[in-house]
Parts: sequence; C-alpha cells; structure tokens
Amino acid sequence: MAHKTDIEIAREAKKRPIQEIGAKLGIGPEDLLPYGHDKAKISQSFIDSVQDRPKGKLILVTAINPTPAGEGKTTTTVGLGDGLNRIGRKAAICIREASLGPNFGMKGGAAGGGYAQVVPMEDMNLHFTGDFHAITSAHNLLSAMIDNHIYWGNELDIDQRRIVWRRVMDMNDRALRDIVTSLGGVANGFPGQGGFDITVASEVMAILCLASGLEDLQRRLGDMIVAYRRDRTPVYCRDIKADGAMTVLLRDAMQPNLVQTLENNPAFVHGGPFANIAHGCNSVTATTTALRCADYVVTEAGFGADLGAEKFMNIKCRKAGIAPDAVVVVATCRAMKMNGGVAKEDLGTENVEAIRKGCPNLGRHIANVKGFGVPVVVAINHFVTDTEAEVQAVKDYVAEQGAEAILCKHWAQGGAGIEDLARKVADLADSGSANFAPLYPDAMGLFEKIETVAKRIYHADEVIADKSIRDQLRQWEEQGYGNLPVCMAKTQYSFSTDPNLRGAPTGHTVPIREVRLSAGAGFVVVICGQIMTMPGLPRVPSAEAIRLNGCGLVEGLF
Ligand code: ADP
Ligand code: MG
Repeated sequence: MAHKTDIEIAREAKKRPIQEIGAKLGIGPEDLLPYGHDKAKISQSFIDSVQDRPKGKLILVTAINPTPAGEGKTTTTVGLGDGLNRIGRKAAICIREASLGPNFGMKGGAAGGGYAQVVPMEDMNLHFTGDFHAITSAHNLLSAMIDNHIYWGNELDIDQRRIVWRRVMDMNDRALRDIVTSLGGVANGFPGQGGFDITVASEVMAILCLASGLEDLQRRLGDMIVAYRRDRTPVYCRDIKADGAMTVLLRDAMQPNLVQTLENNPAFVHGGPFANIAHGCNSVTATTTALRCADYVVTEAGFGADLGAEKFMNIKCRKAGIAPDAVVVVATCRAMKMNGGVAKEDLGTENVEAIRKGCPNLGRHIANVKGFGVPVVVAINHFVTDTEAEVQAVKDYVAEQGAEAILCKHWAQGGAGIEDLARKVADLADSGSANFAPLYPDAMGLFEKIETVAKRIYHADEVIADKSIRDQLRQWEEQGYGNLPVCMAKTQYSFSTDPNLRGAPTGHTVPIREVRLSAGAGFVVVICGQIMTMPGLPRVPSAEAIRLNGCGLVEGLF
C-alpha cells in the first residue's frame, strides 16, 4: 500500500478552532490574537501574567548525528506530545518555525511527519504568521541605516571595509552571497562589498529567541556590533539608533504562535535560529510560557546532540534559567546502519552486524547527555523497513549503556504508537532525578570553554587555532565578553569536523577557522570548517513541483 504523503495526511486533519486549543492551556480567547481560525499569537499580557506560576517538566528531544537516512526529531517531538496527552498528561510541544527558502530547494518540512504533525503545515512551512518577514525587515532596516549613516557624512567614523552587518532574506539564493552594493553613481552612495545570509542566520533571529521580553529585546539589539572603526573600536546598533525602530517591527513577532497537532493538542511554534552559527532552538518566551501552562513541555534542539543538545543546555538553559527534566535521544535503525558503513541504497536490507557497528555513535550521545546530569531514554523511531532483529540489536546495545530504548510508531500511528515512551518519559521527568549543570562555568576563559566542549562532547584530543584567533578571544575577554558561552559551528554529520567520519571517533583535532562575536545574542560563535549561511538551490529544486491544484490547495510541498 502506498503511504499517504505528509501533506495529504495534514489535509485530512480534523482541526479544532484555535480558541479550543488555547482553552486546554487556560489561555482565554481574549489572550489569543487569531491569525485565521487555526493559528493565534499569545498576548504579551498573558505571557506577563503567568510568569510566577510553577513550572511544568521540560523534556528535550535530540538525536544521534544526522544521516541522509533521516532521524525524525520533530516527528518524535510532536508524537511524544500527543502520546503524553493520550496517557492523560497535560502536555504541550515547543518547536521552531520553518525557514521558507529551503522548502523550495529540497523536500522536508519542519512540522513533523506522518501521523505526528503540526497543522496547518502549509502555513507553517510558508509565511505562517509573518515572524520571519518581520525579522528580515528589522535586520535590513539596520543595514539600510548603516549605509545611510555613511552616505550622510559618517559621523561615527565607520571603516567601510569593516562593516560586519550583512543583509538577509528568507530564500536560497547563492548569487547574493557576495555582492557589490551602491553601484550607479554618486546618488547611490559609496560602492562597497556586501552580501546576504538567509534570515534564520540573522543575529536578530537568535536575539528574538533568547530575549526575555521586549525591553531585553531592544537592549540586545542595541548591543549588536555592526562595524568597526579604523582603530578597531566597535560600532553598535545603538550608535546607529536603529534599536527602537527594530523593536517596533518585531513587537508582534515576539509573541509565540499557538497551533495544534493532528490530535488537537497545543503546539507552540516560535522562532527558528540556525543550529550552526546560532543556538538552534525555539524561543525562550515560548518555552517559558508553555512551562507555565502545561505539566509537560516537549521541545526539540536542531541537528545531533553534539550540537543541538549541547547548545540547548549551555546557551538556552543557562540564559533562560531553565533545565531539562529528561532527554529523549532519537535513533533509527537506518541511521545506525549508515553509521555502521551501509550505503543509503542498501538500507532496505536487514543488517544487524552494521547496526552493532554503528551504535557507538548513539552510545556517545547517551553518555554526553548523562554528563549534563539529566536522565535519558532512547526513542527508536520506527521505519516500516526495520526488522525485529535490528530493533532488538539497538535495544540490547542501549541496555548495555545503562539506558532504555523504546520502539515508537508515532509516524504510522500518531500518539497511540508512542505511549510506552510517553510513560517512561513522564516517570523520568517526575522522578526528580535530574541534576542539571551546564558543562562549564561562565567564568571559564573562552578558549578553555571551546576545549571543554571539544574534549568532553566531541572526544577530540585538541583544539587548534592561529595566534590571531587566540588574540581575538583574549581581546574580547578584556572587553568584558569573557563570561559568554561559546556557540560551536561545525558539521552536524560527525562528532569531528570531518563530515565523513561517522560513528564515535576519538583522537581527532578541532581546528578553529574563525571566531565571531554575537554581542547582542550573547555568545561567541566558533567556526570549525566550512559553514554556509546562504544556501543554494539544488539542480532540480522542489519549487518546480509546487503549485496550486484545481481546488486552490497547495500541491508538491512534501
Ligand atoms: P528532524 O526534525 O530530525 O530533521 P523530521 O521529524 O522533520 O526530522 O523528519 C524528517 C522527515 O522524515 C519527514 O519528512 C518525516 O515525514 C520523515 N519521517 C520521520 N519519521 C519517519 C518514519 N518513522 N518513517 C518514515 N518517514 C519518517
Ligand atoms: Mg526538526
């Protein structure tokens, strides 16, 4: 039997009016700002009013290193939320919004899959409630104001060669990565080198996701470094006087969006920073608000646990004063086989040997998560091709690591297929056994922080960096930025910086190529390897197949 596509399943959803979903969390209609019938923003006054309530339990969903075989973190996050509700727990999920650009490149949405999805998925994957457009506008307002400042005399003495603030748009467009601006004559300003990143790579996005409220938002926007003078002193967004107007543009975007799962359970979908040069999780506002309305909040961190969970713990939790009560590491038999050396074309064939060979990747993620002091359980996201022997091999391996792996069939069955995991997660979260601590203290030196992550999480032997990079880190420490966490940007495919090195490598070195200060977001970005901040489209972009059908419905979007 041919499986229904994600969009076909989503279209059959029996959605409830968004007010009913809000009511499940005690959010009255007066505090829901509806965007149509099935989406709403949550009012600032509601957010403010719940901050003194006790917090529910926080559950993080993370995964092994991604492989082309697909792991299903979002699918599992959504499924687990539905599963918890099915066993009678009051649960909400918190996930990121989708970037529009990549949807027209490769297939693969951000709303989950199969019978574990958030709806309306077309909206979520396209314009949604306009948050990303607002971020794009706010970001580019600052770009325009910088150029305008220089045009009218450059009172701040900006060194035009040292403007670090680029432009953004939510589209995959490689032609805009490096461009020349202000051609065409005197009236257009001074020609200069510029470029675009995709909106999710904007520091404004990271700030929106970390800010505790509108005041904090404006302060952080003001703190962003946009350029340097000839003497290398920084010019801040505040100096350009853009922070106020940017905050105005972002006011509505700061309010979390409420939608529902296929099983009519509440889902907060808010923010979407890149998981490489930023921290890769949904907004602090959404998570902390959800924690005040639900007994269990299930949330996702991007990429594998070496990047996503590490940043969730060391950046988001540290800054927001929250801590996970339990962590779910998603694994699939297919991905374990790929880690064990099987080619993508051969994944359909049973291969227990390869699974056993690939499992150490999972094992290290389990140990790493435990290192944060949080109890962990493994979710085996079931694919129809998995055999019983393969599933058993993963279970046996995980048991040897002192944890439990639970088979989950939420993709095919929705919440009913993931009740065992839901029970286990609720038990773990309720047990109070979590004793969370970030990996390093604020006071540790920046280079030492990088070494700590590289050695403890990646199992690298050493971190190597040119003198210029070490000098830069030291200079930031002297300027008062030494207490910031580090935001590692490396390949998501491996514990190492080599994307082809699967499994659980040891003895490798982590070379730092570049460091960047995100002074507003509040972290130091450490770039290890080639990191793309403006994707391109593939030879056959999925846009070619996306269209409206005779009934006006979207076709071809997944
Ligand atoms: P992640 O969040 O880890 O990037 P997603 O949950 O978004 O992954 O899933 C990626 C894709 O894999 C989606 O298109 C989803 O439909 C598909 N998928 C997830 N789980 C399964 C499964 N068990 N069987 C088949 N396809 C799946
Ligand atoms: Mg995801």
